[in-house]
Amino acid sequence: METDNLRELIGQLAEKTVATRRDLHRHPETAFEEVRTAGIVAERLRELGLPVTTGVGRTGVTAELDTGRPGRTVLVRADMDALPVHEERESEYRSTVPGKMHACGHDGHTAILLSAAELLVARQEQLTGRVLFIFQPAEEVVGGAAAMLADGVLQGIPVDASIGLHLSSDWDTGTVAVAAGPTMAATDSFTVTLTGRGGHAGYPHQNVDTIVLAAQAVSGLQTLVSRETAPREQAVVSITTIRGGDSHNIIPETVELRGTLRTFGTDVRERLKERLPGYFSSVAAAFRGSAALEWVSGAPALVNDPERTAAFREVAVSVLGEENVLEMEPVMGSEDMALWLRAAPGVFFWVGARNEERGIDRPHHHPEFDVDEEAFPVALELLVRGIERFLRS
Ligand SMILES: [Zn+2]
Ligand SMILES: [Zn+2]
Repeated sequence: METDNLRELIGQLAEKTVATRRDLHRHPETAFEEVRTAGIVAERLRELGLPVTTGVGRTGVTAELDTGRPGRTVLVRADMDALPVHEERESEYRSTVPGKMHACGHDGHTAILLSAAELLVARQEQLTGRVLFIFQPAEEVVGGAAAMLADGVLQGIPVDASIGLHLSSDWDTGTVAVAAGPTMAATDSFTVTLTGRGGHAGYPHQNVDTIVLAAQAVSGLQTLVSRETAPREQAVVSITTIRGGDSHNIIPETVELRGTLRTFGTDVRERLKERLPGYFSSVAAAFRGSAALEWVSGAPALVNDPERTAAFREVAVSVLGEENVLEMEPVMGSEDMALWLRAAPGVFFWVGARNEERGIDRPHHHPEFDVDEEAFPVALELLVRGIERFLRS
């Protein structure tokens, strides 16, 4: 058990953390529109006496705590964006914006990191090195981290370690889930345009039928995973949209397919990305049509550094006890925290925020999603102690 006064300080900040979260929850802003949120973040960081930069990657905010003593630099990141979901849960902090909602808990992440900054400033006499605070926009569209990096946020700053958290309705309050290695998948999206020759449905021999072509292409596509990817390698290819035609008797000239590719290993990701255009072209050619494929590269796989994950796990056990530190199973979802972890090795962990008794158990992105605010002090302690651990070694 830790014996310093951090828990006491966290207790004193508990109400403020909840109030900040509720304010952000009432005023959700979606990807790259986090103007009000960024304003609040910048103001709070300035109140702490930290140098603040705004407008990084459009709506991102950064600040730095320099203890003035040489040491390591630790990057800590929170995401700020809400989702285009209409909130259905009744509460005193319900979203006031129709069609927008904090349905993933990023309001909590922002409030927690603001309180963490306050705690670290209060404890800076005991610390060495620097803490770089990153308040990132647009995680949900997997664009915010890349935008901030493209803006040069880390240029000339050698960062030693990264850390970040996600509140989760998958685990109970009082627990944390974490794992070393790749824990979340790389995500890429693609759009395929299949072109044939449109015409009268009663005279198929005069046309090139893009609907039949699309059907063949979609079913055959699954063999890229089942027959060309080694069973121990993980990959998912899903076609999520088929768009073509609008009448009973006309074969459409084009059909558009959209889909997503999820992978863990770099090899399998690259191989499938290379294979897909050829696959669609060949199938199209076999049916006298053609195919054009357009990629939208998303986040790489999220990889937790084994050494730093082990160090964080020790911290978590000292805070919550061994039985409440859970081993996370890798998932096929994705997170652009992956990019920060690529820039500096570190850890991304999941803080349990489910409370079934209070009906707080809906999945993420659900219109009745909520997080248990009792989880905030746990998240804060894990985050602050994790940062302080990484500052030390
Ligand atoms: Zn989400
Ligand atoms: Zn999220």
